[in-house]
Amino acid sequence: MTIKDFRFDGSKKLKVKDMPTDAGDSKGKKSELVKQTQANLLRASELQERLYAAGREGLVIAIQARDAAGKDSLIKKVFSGLNPAALEVHSFKSPSSTELSHDYLWRINAALPPRGKIGVFNRSQYEDVLVVRVHHMERGYKLAPRCLVDDFFPRRYAQLRSWEDYLYENGIRMVKIFLNVSKDEQRKRFLERIERDEKHYKLSTNDMVERAAWDAYDEAFEDAINATATPRSPWYVIPADSKWYTRYLVSQLLVDTLEEMDPQFPTIDPAEAARIPQMLEELGYHEDMQTKAAEEKTADAQET
Ligand code: AMP
Ligand code: MG
Repeated sequence: MTIKDFRFDGSKKLKVKDMPTDAGDSKGKKSELVKQTQANLLRASELQERLYAAGREGLVIAIQARDAAGKDSLIKKVFSGLNPAALEVHSFKSPSSTELSHDYLWRINAALPPRGKIGVFNRSQYEDVLVVRVHHMERGYKLAPRCLVDDFFPRRYAQLRSWEDYLYENGIRMVKIFLNVSKDEQRKRFLERIERDEKHYKLSTNDMVERAAWDAYDEAFEDAINATATPRSPWYVIPADSKWYTRYLVSQLLVDTLEEMDPQFPTIDPAEAARIPQMLEELGYHEDMQTKAAEEKTADAQET
């Protein structure tokens, strides 16, 4: 399977239960795919450099998942190879009372990266149609009755679709990931958090409340994804039981997305270019002189 098999852009319907959570046929190719991951991360960092230099388009990778699906470790392993100056990572927690007194996209808008950068969202605007829907939190919101309508969530899906479209048209792409972990693997990871002291800080009694609502989450993910998957802002439903496989797929997604964006180094301003002969003169350059860059270029050419 390739990353395309996990992509949802509105052309097919997602049934969460039909999607794999483990590496399947790819299990036997682990060492090859781990190597490929490294190569992808190198390629992604080259493309990120272009994106940053060009400064014309930004990219947001929004990561949604159940507890213990591996959001934090994915961010640590996959995005650590990128230039931190051109990367912004945001984690969205339960909204504060100030955040709740604003529209739900207020805090998300404030966290959007500028054009040229990559933003990683650890949880995102989708919490507002996932955890909020599963626990009917909207019923406790201080909202005018006209806002608390029966189609509260379908309205939000439409809002998210048009907001993401708006961003796309203004130079910010949104790619959404659902890390799909199995119930059994989640159980193992919770047990490991209990057994290992250094993982205790990750334990939360609320995790069991969320686990008990497994099927409600399946439905909420399915509805949200089916309603908001578009060619401009696709979803990827990524198996999350094997971390090496998840990393491979996300590294592939990163490269594919950046390649599609195709950022280019800016060309030199003609007025600046016209000043080059003068610069060379000021630097004491004469034509029979080999510059360091030229020497390296020759050496590179001889190696390959
Ligand atoms: P964690 O990512 O484990 O630190 O947990 C963050 C918690 O904040 C999770 O339980 C999320 O469901 C919750 N959360 C994030 N965004 C929202 C939101 N918009 N409304 C309600 N809860 C949220
Ligand atoms: Mg947690």
